[in-house]
Amino acid sequence: MKKTFDAVAHALPHIQALHAYVPGEQPQGAGWVKLNTNENPYPPAPGVAAAIAPEVDQLRLYPEPVSASLRSAIAQRFGLGAGNVIIGNGSDNLLDLIVRCFVSDPGVGHTVPSYSLYPVVAGMSGQQVVEVNFEREMQLDVRAMADTAAKVFFLTNPNAPTGVAFSLGEIEQALQAIDGLLVVDEAYVDFGGESAIPLLQAYENLIVVRTFSKSYALAGMRVGFALASEAVVALLDRVRDAYNLDRVAQAAALAAFEDVAYFDQQCQKIIATRENTRAALEERGWFTYPSAANFLFTEPRDAVGQAGPAVAASLFDHLKEGRVLVRYFPKHPLTCAFIRVSIGTDKEMQVFLTAVDAWLNNA
Ligand code: PMP
Repeated sequence: MKKTFDAVAHALPHIQALHAYVPGEQPQGAGWVKLNTNENPYPPAPGVAAAIAPEVDQLRLYPEPVSASLRSAIAQRFGLGAGNVIIGNGSDNLLDLIVRCFVSDPGVGHTVPSYSLYPVVAGMSGQQVVEVNFEREMQLDVRAMADTAAKVFFLTNPNAPTGVAFSLGEIEQALQAIDGLLVVDEAYVDFGGESAIPLLQAYENLIVVRTFSKSYALAGMRVGFALASEAVVALLDRVRDAYNLDRVAQAAALAAFEDVAYFDQQCQKIIATRENTRAALEERGWFTYPSAANFLFTEPRDAVGQAGPAVAASLFDHLKEGRVLVRYFPKHPLTCAFIRVSIGTDKEMQVFLTAVDAWLNNA
């Protein structure tokens, strides 16, 4: 006789209620122009492959538990101590650790729109979210952030999915105004944002989170890091998996981090492509937020000059039929008339613009 078990009924109530994160589509098969998950269109630094190879021979051995070499290299680059750095299995891992360590009522603060993982990591710990809504101008409301009284407030800078960057002055105002921790998620900062790292000396309530997934082209490796006071890092280390970063990922990230010339060159290339693409969209009369990230958030207009959710959805579908994948967020009034386009190679952006023009001509 089969023994049955009602797994859902046995799950904790907050897990029963949890909606998992929905990642951008990862299409199978060749021929896609993939501009939907803000990956880097170029390969990681040439030294990465050579750095990984010897690790393969060592795979029967556990990795170095705290990613010590990587912590030191990162600390040195930013003028901090190794005790100010923690490495995550992707920065998503660190966002979860932060919630687990520091969040209680009234929950996780975040702006809307911003990164849609924040409510998920809150829910994973049975916590609520307190939202601060943007207006169309996407100006930061520091007072409203403070008024949430959140123990932890996640601020994406540059923001996603808009690409809009906030100034260091605004970040500092927020650090002064709020009583809890401010987590500045700098996933995209290398493409033109202003980093909050210099503020770490003066503000013990600041955590800066970074990733190797975008500017270092290592999304498939899953490496992120956070910078904070030694006390904050020590607490995060308590809840971190003992071997949270495998040895291949540690070696790859270190090699990518050390090739500064390649890094700078790739970031500049992506920024140049972004600005050319933005100009091309402007020529078509589309409103596009100024972006300091590796994507553009643009409001498509059809051949008769109309914008809106139906127009954005129609363009998204047309692009997908032509195997050009972008991201569409239909659920919020500030996002539903827009599409988010990751910056690919110049050639990929040409394919995108050609598909846009075909859509305009068919309308
Ligand atoms: N923060 C933001 C704002 C992001 O958009 C992403 C990528 N989706 C991440 C963090 C997660 O990056 P990682 O790959 O390091 O987990």
